[in-house]
Amino acid sequence: MKNKSFTLLIEQLEQIPSIGKKSANKIAYTLALENKILALNLANCIENAVQNIQQCEICGGIAEGKICEICEDDTRLYSGMLCIVSNPKDILIIEEANIFSGIYFVVDDAKRIDFEGLRANIKLYNIQEIIFAFSPSLMSDAMILFIEDKLKDEKLIFSKIAQGIPTGVGLDNIDRLSLTRALEGRAKI
Ligand SMILES: [Zn+2]
Repeated sequence: MKNKSFTLLIEQLEQIPSIGKKSANKIAYTLALENKILALNLANCIENAVQNIQQCEICGGIAEGKICEICEDDTRLYSGMLCIVSNPKDILIIEEANIFSGIYFVVDDAKRIDFEGLRANIKLYNIQEIIFAFSPSLMSDAMILFIEDKLKDEKLIFSKIAQGIPTGVGLDNIDRLSLTRALEGRAKI
């Protein structure tokens, strides 16, 4: 088969979320012909990321090594606020918006929530407020109730971001201003 490597590259690129056939073709052309240095740097970055990046043992966020930068930062650990997100990449989005100075906790599946770890963090860092930063949906409302119920003996304030965030839209599709408003205007629950 002719151009086997090129076809294979396009096929792999197409596996990446949000990259369609047209983009895959364009990127493959850039990498394989137009900018081989970029391609090799990219290959190297991907290899390093795959080897070094994992989920933080404390919060479940993205970490280079065992513990993420946020969980290593004393000023953040003792802010009294813990933000619960449903995906590690939501932490990056909130961090990029520079609107939150506390710590995070990732819960991806209600059945597997590490309540022991969550309670340990609440106690250890003297957390007073839990903020749920889920995109609004029936599922996330159910998850909030479930978590709140499990933590009801911890004397916590619970709040959730809501304002300006449409139902069913992921945090990665929300502009920074709306996200800032949503966090500042968080409602107690
Ligand atoms: Zn962490």
